[in-house]
Amino acid sequence: MDQLTWKARAKINLGLDVLRKRPDGYHDLRMVMQTIDLYDEILLRVTEPGRAGEGGHIRLCVEGGAGLVAADTDNLAYRAAELLMKEFDIRQGLDIRLIKKIPVAAGLAGGSTDAAAVLNGVNRLFALGLGERELMERGVRIGADVPYCIMGGTALAEGIGERLTRLPSAPQAYVLLAKPPIQVSTKFVYSRLRLDGDGSNGIKHPDIDAQVKAIRDGALYRMTELMGNVLETVTIPAFPVIGEIRGQMMRGGAIGAMMSGSGPTVFGLFDDPEKARAACAELLKGKLAGEVYLTNFYEPG
Ligand code: ATP
Repeated sequence: MDQLTWKARAKINLGLDVLRKRPDGYHDLRMVMQTIDLYDEILLRVTEPGRAGEGGHIRLCVEGGAGLVAADTDNLAYRAAELLMKEFDIRQGLDIRLIKKIPVAAGLAGGSTDAAAVLNGVNRLFALGLGERELMERGVRIGADVPYCIMGGTALAEGIGERLTRLPSAPQAYVLLAKPPIQVSTKFVYSRLRLDGDGSNGIKHPDIDAQVKAIRDGALYRMTELMGNVLETVTIPAFPVIGEIRGQMMRGGAIGAMMSGSGPTVFGLFDDPEKARAACAELLKGKLAGEVYLTNFYEPG
């Protein structure tokens, strides 16, 4: 095998709680993660070996991504290939063609899922024989969400996001995604998060354990009732459009709507495909969202 293609799927958070800031600057989180069927495409091709003593040459080409994703050595897809090719001293080269379809800097783990796909792909192409756990151990060096993206499906993520418990598949729902045309940096959101105020800042921690139980019970409406993301306490006051999109989705018949990750993408879950389609059309007509997608949960394997 000298080439392969991979679908690198995005994630949403069905629940996101922040427990505390750690001395190392990271935050301890508890998140319910769910893969969705919106993906970047990644094509990998083995090329000629470099000269003796040189590492294998990696060439990355990026299509799409609205000019926000550079095809350079900082790209997470590049870093994933480099990590394995250096460790295993691979002399051959690798061409990576990345076709971005996942909105960028959106709270959908676009970069992390690309890294996960490249780790998987390089493992296969060069027959490195690494198991899932071994790939995850390497993935966390690239980003906290990369191990989850390797695992995929429905999972509870703890620690900085790297401690994972696989959950049974969440009950199916139609997923409407809408990204407002604003930039929200993850750093901005966490730096403004106040966890131990007097309650006046609206902090309400979602009950992640109860949501996990709802998923284990296959209880869709209980699961959506328990959706919550503490980071909205920062982003909604700062960027009211996030709350407006959420409100519009709920008025359009969503059974739950919430911001994913540190935003700004909002997703709505629907039990009725007609309502989901109508809400999608409504958002496409309006000015709140620049990018709108209708998709569903994805279960690997
Ligand atoms: P998360 O949900 O993990 O916080 P995100 O969806 O908010 O991630 P990404 O789409 O991963 O954010 O992009 C964050 C930044 O990472 C971008 O500004 C981009 O420049 C950089 N980046 C590096 N590699 C990639 C990649 N392969 N795809 C997208 N962005 C990348």
